[in-house]
Amino acid sequence: MKEFKVAIIGGGSAGMIAAIAASKNSKNSIILLEKTDSLGKKLLLTGGGRCNITNSSSIKEHLKLINNKNFLKHSFYSFSNEDLLELFKKKGLDFKEEKNNRIFPKTNDSRSVLNILKEYLNELNVKINLKFEVSKITKENNHFIINNSIKVSKIILSTGGITYPQTGSSGDGYKIAKNFNHTITNIKHGLVPLIVKDKYLNELSGITLENIEVSYGKYSSTKEVLISHFGISGPGILDISNKIVENIDYNILEKNKAIFKNIFIKIDFYPKMTLENLNIKIINDISLNGKTKIKNYLKNYLPNKFIDFFLKKTEINGDKTLSNIGKKDKNKIINNLKEFKIEVKGIYKDLSKITIGGIAIKDINPKTMESKIIKNLYFAGEILEPYSISGGYNLQIAFSTAYLAGESTK
Ligand SMILES: Cc1cc2nc3c(=O)[nH]c(=O)nc-3n(C[C@H](O)[C@H](O)[C@H](O)COP(=O)(O)OP(=O)(O)OC[C@H]3O[C@@H](n4cnc5c(N)ncnc54)[C@H](O)[C@@H]3O)c2cc1C
Repeated sequence: MKEFKVAIIGGGSAGMIAAIAASKNSKNSIILLEKTDSLGKKLLLTGGGRCNITNSSSIKEHLKLINNKNFLKHSFYSFSNEDLLELFKKKGLDFKEEKNNRIFPKTNDSRSVLNILKEYLNELNVKINLKFEVSKITKENNHFIINNSIKVSKIILSTGGITYPQTGSSGDGYKIAKNFNHTITNIKHGLVPLIVKDKYLNELSGITLENIEVSYGKYSSTKEVLISHFGISGPGILDISNKIVENIDYNILEKNKAIFKNIFIKIDFYPKMTLENLNIKIINDISLNGKTKIKNYLKNYLPNKFIDFFLKKTEINGDKTLSNIGKKDKNKIINNLKEFKIEVKGIYKDLSKITIGGIAIKDINPKTMESKIIKNLYFAGEILEPYSISGGYNLQIAFSTAYLAGESTK
């Protein structure tokens, strides 16, 4: 039987950083076990292949976006977004900032991020076993036995969540953790496109709605919305999808079907003005441009291709001129420009980017990422309960929790 000090299970973003951090204390005694034939398959897909590695906003801002912010505080301060970038800058990779404080490598290529992680693993002599699927872990006295073939003192479990299972993340870690008596919270699909009830909307596939605000209840996003052949997507939708999914009662591990009933999102096409001010503006425009047809006037607020759909939905004759518009139609236009309702029928699970839920944080020590139930067992990355919106925040959660777990194995 081969012996190591620490085994890291899962060679994704979290597993690789955990191995790097762990090997600083215990060089030559770290093994990284990965089920697929290569490391970081999901990392390569991130940011559309460009890797939105983190977000430049302050740690306080990062934490505000996460339900379990107290749990993550310690790991974020132990290994911040700046520490993360520094690790790559040392190896010559530069970064740039894009809209909404998102950070990408200047190469626009997630492979450059993965290559540097591999370089570190190599330099630090981390033993890497690919195509090694961990199926059984037993604890005997002061050590663990993995698949009856590897003996270690400490384990970091970083097998990810359940999305994009073709990258290797298929929920294996939950079973392992459950066998060691950990609580797994409800597991659901997050950052997920929405399927809509109105089939006519799907016909507008390809349209991007910008400078809008999309909301679900009290949650809103000003990021853009994309209309696709199955429904709606884009960063604005993905962000509020987390809130919708949180409110739907289902759990993937128990195969409960998600039931969507009376779920509406709203789009504000003119967020820079209140409803009252938009009313004053439109009354003014009617008096100045009475001969303009409604369908042409709406170009001030809506993408051209969206106007017919808007008119059909509101049952307004777009060929009427502004001067012929009745009070009822005028109010209908204003209300729908400010609160255009779209009914949500479901989620498009195959394109979900993150897993909501995971190993319950109540079972984990936030200062070390060690289990409170099993000594010397640590957790890192998406397998844990916390998650965030899009913008580089989820990778930062994976990297920060993993670095802390790795360091704590000394
Ligand atoms: C399409 C897409 C785009 C994304 N874009 C971004 C982005 O731009 N920015 C961002 O912040 N986040 C993004 N995310 C989310 C981000 O990828 C995850 O938060 C992150 O990968 C989580 O890292 P992880 O290491 O915890 O899990 P994973 O990356 O899923 O890695 C888990 C690893 O464990 C291995 N494994 C599983 N079971 C076993 C087993 N039994 N034995 C051995 N190995 C096992 C898997 O093969 C896998 O390699 C995106 C996600 C997707 C799907």
